[in-house]
Amino acid sequence: MMRQLELIERIKAYDPGADEELVNRAYVYAMKLHGAQTRESGDPYFSHPIEVAGILTDLKLDESSIVTALLHDLVEDTDTSLEDIERMFGPEIARLVDGVTKLTRLELQSEQTRHAENFRKLVLAMSEDIRVLLVKLADRLHNMQTLHYVQSPEKRRRIARETMEIYAPLAERIGMQRFKDELLDLAFAELNPDGRASILARLEFLKGDGDDLPPRIVDQLKSGLAEDGVEADVSGRMKTPYSIWTKMLHKDVAFEQLSDIMAFRIVVADVSECYRALGALHGRYPVVPGRFKDYISTPKPNGYQSVHTGLIGPERQRIEVQIRTREMHDVAELGVAAHWKFKQGDFKIDGRQYRWLRELLDILEHASNPEEFLEHTKLEMFQDQVFCFTPKGDLIALPDGATPVDFAYAVHSEIGDTCVGAKVNGRIMPLRNKLQNGDQVEILTSKAQTPSPDWEKFVVSGKAKARIRRFIHLKEREQYGTLGRQMLEKAFREEDYELTNKALAGVLKKFRCTGVDELCALVGKGNHTAREVLVAVFPGVKQVARSMRVWPFRRGRGRGDKAKTAKLPIKGLIPGMAVHYAQCCHPLPGERIVGIVTTGKGVTVHTIDCETLESFQDTPERWVDIAWEVDEESESLIGRLHLMVANEPGSLGDLSTIIGKNHGNISNLKITNRSVDFFEMLVDVEVQDAKHLSNIMAALRATPVITSVERARR
Ligand code: MN
Repeated sequence: MMRQLELIERIKAYDPGADEELVNRAYVYAMKLHGAQTRESGDPYFSHPIEVAGILTDLKLDESSIVTALLHDLVEDTDTSLEDIERMFGPEIARLVDGVTKLTRLELQSEQTRHAENFRKLVLAMSEDIRVLLVKLADRLHNMQTLHYVQSPEKRRRIARETMEIYAPLAERIGMQRFKDELLDLAFAELNPDGRASILARLEFLKGDGDDLPPRIVDQLKSGLAEDGVEADVSGRMKTPYSIWTKMLHKDVAFEQLSDIMAFRIVVADVSECYRALGALHGRYPVVPGRFKDYISTPKPNGYQSVHTGLIGPERQRIEVQIRTREMHDVAELGVAAHWKFKQGDFKIDGRQYRWLRELLDILEHASNPEEFLEHTKLEMFQDQVFCFTPKGDLIALPDGATPVDFAYAVHSEIGDTCVGAKVNGRIMPLRNKLQNGDQVEILTSKAQTPSPDWEKFVVSGKAKARIRRFIHLKEREQYGTLGRQMLEKAFREEDYELTNKALAGVLKKFRCTGVDELCALVGKGNHTAREVLVAVFPGVKQVARSMRVWPFRRGRGRGDKAKTAKLPIKGLIPGMAVHYAQCCHPLPGERIVGIVTTGKGVTVHTIDCETLESFQDTPERWVDIAWEVDEESESLIGRLHLMVANEPGSLGDLSTIIGKNHGNISNLKITNRSVDFFEMLVDVEVQDAKHLSNIMAALRATPVITSVERARR
């Protein structure tokens, strides 16, 4: 614990005119009132305010800030009132202590809304006097430094999370890089000790490779600069485990390069020396493209200035170099505290570097609710992410809005595929439940589970989406395959051929398929008709698809009148002209159609709403006005049904089986809409008469996977 005298000496070192008596009085007053209180570490409570005051002397803050640090927990933790403090130490210090106390109270509430309000008041307080924030940040830093003494794991985690989400970003916004780095790293140690340990171990391993490498590089940089007459302080600094970890997390690479773990700093006398140093380095070492940044001519919003560049350094290692003046260096490390105007007593927010604060206040005035405010002001590093934990404490970073399913896929694809439920913070939650920062998620799995098409509607992470889609795609192909195979079997049987895989294998190339299953799936989907495949396998079979030959004439199964059905079912065509039915839209009898003249192929028939027609818009001369021939007598022999079928494994196969069992024949089928839940389709069924069609419809309605069966009328 820092002694009274030591504290005074530290203040006197940078502010000889400081009011020694005031500081002494505060020291004694706080020690007396905190009395026998102890911290969880067993230390007397009083050690805490003294350490906080000590941290502030590192920032060379004024005596009022130091006194505020000494008194900052009195109102909250003892019987002391704000009036007592005002009487003893005056209105300025009372006001500062009040600000810190308010922040402390707000910290004790942790729900989302409170969280946002905390933040609002926090910003308000600090806009009044930024010293309140500095004392609060120092208070938080010391609490983080001693966090491991806190016994409750929930409390430790809450404090660490709050540090990461609120205080470290605030430190960054006011340019206090050193505070920010230490706060983040301490929070990281609590939230992901395994992750941090693994990085430390890796650093240790790399050091073993060349412990003296960084000092050697520093020496060579220095002598290189000296040769060009640039006098500079050169140092190499390890990045913190947390910053290395975030880098790995975002870049998704293992670190190997020195530039990933160290930053070399060159501090020179003035701005022109900065550019001279840069020139000297660029003349001496190869430059890594894309790494040069000039924050001297364009400072960061928090006031940070430096020139950054990347080099292949003296030891043939990639290094990162930051060049700056002494003053810029102080600002980089201490931020707002570096340009403190002690003597002027000017602690109000002003100056260019605090523009962000005014912007914050602006948002504050116009935001309609705390959540919206938090939304606007949360920092970019957390804005679009939610951090959750595995039961072992591993941190899983997910996009905002992520669900337990996203979490499961992030842990492992297989866990995602087989997840059936989730425990969030120990409670069973629906899989579509949105995760919150800090949630601990335990995924329940079952070997029997497979990805549900339903999940696709609510997952947000790319990995989960891709896996689920792939699975649905496979399942669909299976379904279409079953249906297609049945349609093929029927088509072959009608011509007294047997459908074999071998026969299909022979025509795969023609249909640009890689396998028999794929070909079946394409037929099931309607991309090719079963008849086309049959004709390809047995070129002797009539080219015209059976449904086209038959429609709209009376079916003649077994009556040997197939040859007489040559009349085209389409009017408007020139006799003798070849006709094809477009593969893009599969026009069905009854639909509005149009013909497109294709050189060498005759007329291709499209539905009027087919997208392919757009590409013929500029060539109206190729359009032929055609229509289906309507034959009253035979209309009843093709029954067109509008069906809704559940999108479930096997459902399309069931449909085909039922129609077949009832002696109907699917002459054409078109899926008009497919959602994750349902297929909506038009099916043309060849029937003997209306009663036959009614029977088939009744049988379909009795099938659980078919939810709706209607005669299509249009
Ligand atoms: Mn405190």
